[in-house]
Amino acid sequence: MKTLRRCAGILGWAVSLLWVSVSGGEELVSGCYRFIYDPMEFSQWEVEEFSREAEERCEKLKLFLHVATKEPIDVYVRSGQGVSTTVPHKNKAMDLFFLKPIRGVEAPIVHETAHIFLDSPNPVLREGLATAMEERFGTLWTHPTYGLSLVEWMKGLECAEKIVGLAQLEKTDWREGAWEANPIAYVLSGSFVAFLLERYGPEEVGKALKWTQRFRPTNLERVCEVRFNRPLKDLEREWLETMKSEPMNPSARELCQALKAGKVREFLQKRLTTP
Ligand SMILES: [Zn+2]
Repeated sequence: MKTLRRCAGILGWAVSLLWVSVSGGEELVSGCYRFIYDPMEFSQWEVEEFSREAEERCEKLKLFLHVATKEPIDVYVRSGQGVSTTVPHKNKAMDLFFLKPIRGVEAPIVHETAHIFLDSPNPVLREGLATAMEERFGTLWTHPTYGLSLVEWMKGLECAEKIVGLAQLEKTDWREGAWEANPIAYVLSGSFVAFLLERYGPEEVGKALKWTQRFRPTNLERVCEVRFNRPLKDLEREWLETMKSEPMNPSARELCQALKAGKVREFLQKRLTTP
């Protein structure tokens, strides 16, 4: 599946590349992106190889979210193990840390691109959309999924009784608490937004995110009432019931045990580095 998709991407990648030398670095301009990098840290071929897959993913994301872009998105390629983000660039460009996977973790370019295409001040909608899009068009082998699908995460959380209510989640600082509190906040949001996309479609969900950019308050209770004409508690219950009807599998069962034992980080690290 993965190999087929990659081949299709290379064949379908008809956008001509433009290499430009700029002071302090090199640029590779493709359709969606302008990769800006230091040639001492990244080789031309490494960036080109990465850009092929990134372009293919970006085109699918644009189609799904009905986005038309004129200018390529600036991607500042960084080395090391920092956290990729759009925040320093006011959501117009991104810092992307590393290109090749580090200890099994890939660069989350679809996630960051989703923020640039469709943002929200509400953390559940903002990170939920980006997480759902990375799962759909990108890779599971990145933050916050680390190789497990959103459904597997939900089954693990359900079994370990670690599901957090959405109204509580949107008020919580995701950087606080145990290590796994952060990926849990992301995957719950991702799974809920994936449910909304399934039920209402990308156009309505897109309108809901745009609505939160213009109107206050942006809490989920209000968003659900105004945009989906339903109380949050009803949608939340239906989402969790949908997840309950999904089958449990060995990966979700192992995650459940790791959650119960407080060893999620160790469990994920082992999965990521096991060939
Ligand atoms: Zn994000």
